[in-house]
Amino acid sequence: KTFCRDLPKIELHAHLNGSLSRSTMLHLKRFYADSGLEDNTNAFFDEFQIGAGDCRNLSDCFQVFSIAHALTSTPEALAMATTLTLQEFHSDGCCYIELRSTPRNTQYMTKEQYVDTIVHCMQKSSIHLSMLSRLIISINRSYPVSEAEAIADLAIESYKKYPDVVVGMELSGEPTVGKFQDFVPALTRARNAGLKITLHCGEVCNPEEILEMIKFKPGRIGHGTCIHPKLGGTDDTWSALCTSKIPVEVCLTSNVNTKSTPDYESHHFKYLYEAGIPMIICTDDKGVFTTSLSQEYRICAETFSLNQVKVARLALEACQYIFAEDVQKTLKNKVQDFINKYCL
Ligand code: 5GP
Repeated sequence: KTFCRDLPKIELHAHLNGSLSRSTMLHLKRFYADSGLEDNTNAFFDEFQIGAGDCRNLSDCFQVFSIAHALTSTPEALAMATTLTLQEFHSDGCCYIELRSTPRNTQYMTKEQYVDTIVHCMQKSSIHLSMLSRLIISINRSYPVSEAEAIADLAIESYKKYPDVVVGMELSGEPTVGKFQDFVPALTRARNAGLKITLHCGEVCNPEEILEMIKFKPGRIGHGTCIHPKLGGTDDTWSALCTSKIPVEVCLTSNVNTKSTPDYESHHFKYLYEAGIPMIICTDDKGVFTTSLSQEYRICAETFSLNQVKVARLALEACQYIFAEDVQKTLKNKVQDFINKYCL
């Protein structure tokens, strides 16, 4: 019963502000109240979580992040949010996490301070937790391109300053807004400076953009919900993915709860699995979708009838696709030891 919890797992697609659990959000509210900071989230606090059958669609879901943002606007609150979230992933049996977040200027901190704060929490957490954590800096595609360029500058600087923590840059945000091509120069600069790239790709039907993204050759893509021809993609998008074999970060509950996928059974996991496309099971926004990484593994195993060896192999294979190449071997050994002990 506890197999998915006990399995050492790798999380590669988790947005910090979407990962805040209800408990973390309540801690943050307490902190705002105790510090005399204005907290205007009371009226819509309960709207943060999007469960199964919620009538909100993918587009509506983007509204809820402002609730978390309102509670992570000071360096202290952001540090609290990061530390509590890392602890939760650790207690869920995660041994490596690449957490991602969009740096914001707020009334109380600059984008640089935003990144510094998260990095310091990650460095501190590595002393107390048997989990390694790395940071991917996000660009929001619904912001102006000039903002993306400024974030690329910051990501490059942060990578130089914290090469042991900052590993990549990613493109996320409302997928129907903004044009991928506009962000290519910022993404290319970051990649040329040594950062790895992951792109939210094919969350909505947009075959042209999917093809452009695959051609860009990111290290990984997120979701890929609409790439298969039976799910809104085309023969071309599917064959481009099959040929490139770019690893896909798969977020089952997120896709079902946002109605990007009608139900678990029709999720594109099965097509990716059958085609041998590398996959990593991830949570996306564990706070918003009230899930955990072990729950995602459990749902995957139950829906697609995977036995324990097959489930463990998903965690083992995920080690190859992490951006911090220097720790891949250690993590592979850790997962393999678990497999040798419990599955063979
Ligand atoms: P943050 O970057 O503030 O830590 O996390 C929240 C942000 O992540 C959101 O504002 C949004 O830009 C991005 N995000 C979270 N979940 C999703 C998702 O499912 N799809 C896309 N495209 N972006 C997301």
